[in-house]
Amino acid sequence: MGNVDEADVVVVGAGPGGSSTAFHLARHGLRVLLLEKSEFPREKVCGDGLTPRAVRQLVDMGVDTEKDGWLRNKGLRVIGAGIRLELDWPDLASFPDYGLTRTRMDFDQILAQRAVEVGAELHTGTTVTGPLLDEATGRITGVRTEQGDTYTAPLVVSADGVSGRFPISLGLNKREDRPIGVAVRRYYRSEARHDDEYLESWLELRTKDDPNRMLPGYGWIFGMGDGRVNVGLGVLNSSAAWGKTNYRQMLVDWLGSTPPEWGMAEEANADGPILGAALPMGFSRVPHYARGVLLVGDSGGMVNPFNGEGIAYAMESGALAAEIAVQALAQSDPARRERMLQHYPTELRARYGGYYRLGGWFVKLIGNPQLMRFATKHGMPHPALMRFVLKLLANLTDPRGGDASDRIINAMTKVVPAV
Ligand SMILES: Cc1cc2nc3c(=O)[nH]c(=O)nc-3n(C[C@H](O)[C@H](O)[C@H](O)COP(=O)(O)OP(=O)(O)OC[C@H]3O[C@@H](n4cnc5c(N)ncnc54)[C@H](O)[C@@H]3O)c2cc1C
Repeated sequence: MGNVDEADVVVVGAGPGGSSTAFHLARHGLRVLLLEKSEFPREKVCGDGLTPRAVRQLVDMGVDTEKDGWLRNKGLRVIGAGIRLELDWPDLASFPDYGLTRTRMDFDQILAQRAVEVGAELHTGTTVTGPLLDEATGRITGVRTEQGDTYTAPLVVSADGVSGRFPISLGLNKREDRPIGVAVRRYYRSEARHDDEYLESWLELRTKDDPNRMLPGYGWIFGMGDGRVNVGLGVLNSSAAWGKTNYRQMLVDWLGSTPPEWGMAEEANADGPILGAALPMGFSRVPHYARGVLLVGDSGGMVNPFNGEGIAYAMESGALAAEIAVQALAQSDPARRERMLQHYPTELRARYGGYYRLGGWFVKLIGNPQLMRFATKHGMPHPALMRFVLKLLANLTDPRGGDASDRIINAMTKVVPAV
């Protein structure tokens, strides 16, 4: 017989989504159990890039990013159609004007540690195998673990990432009509590029042997500030190459065309293997609340379809889930509590539904290589247009009092029906 423990909220998974949820809950005095299958520090396949959206969440959690191990960036360098364009992050009232990089090897541990510092109880090496069910009401009353323990709570938060085993065990499957991406990445030692002040995004990938042949997908090179770069590429399910391409080989082929002094064309400079994973986008698993379970981050398919960013959305949904859970759990009337919890999916749709709908259309459009080439060729020579595109792709506008481009983007996301 394993241990039995009881809490106000059980959080499954201590990635950025789970730790953000646990932090905001614990800060309000709730008893939170944060269950994580791995032991920290641990590797997580990611580009390690943080936009001002993610920085805002880190500031909210009181994470000290002035210490060693963080590298600041000023914006995005976009490369395409023979042009290199440096676009600074917009100057907004709602977000900081800088981004960061930090390896996920310890980024997730830092966030989990913040949750612990404000009172959450973290159990690592604890794999959740499924829910505890109240047969009479159909509600989830806790979780069971591989280690034979049971943890009960009136509310469970599923933040178990793209695999979504926990929601799947509740019958919440992935929606096939939503965009999804797959991305691979590798670290390389690169003195030349490791301390880049911009996140770099490649709209066109070519090979050394045949510069006229364009590879499907989009690439990135992010300096880590520690002698290494994180280099990778992503392909969307709207592309003809989806599921039919060796993405790892594609990365090697593309990097073979980069300048030798960058160090990425050489296997000897690689630090670790090429690893890949899926990016679940545009609310690819719904409903985000059912039977006492809230879905946060990748578990609810919340990656931004425009740019593949998932950390900020995992943290934002975690903060929102916590805010709603704190209020709901303060209610003793079950019907009232339920109504408040139902507000979580409603608020998520209001915040991101229109934007993700636009993102779904965007993914379909850029799946057409001719159209993408046309847009790159005619868009890249116009910095003002590209600054607008950056705001749209990174979802960085002021909701009120912004400039004309903020107002256009905000209006666009409001007029389209939410996903
Ligand atoms: C190649 C690649 C590059 C990317 N680059 C970027 C980028 O540069 N910037 C960005 O913002 N986003 C990027 N993303 C997306 C980003 O990695 C995810 O969106 C983000 O990690 C989601 O956070 P999360 O907390 O929802 O899930 P995760 O980070 O996946 O965390 C889930 C946690 O749950 C744990 N877990 C899973 N199952 C169980 C279980 N049964 N019991 C207990 N614990 C469990 C896992 O061990 C893990 O710690 C990238 C993704 C990929 C694949």
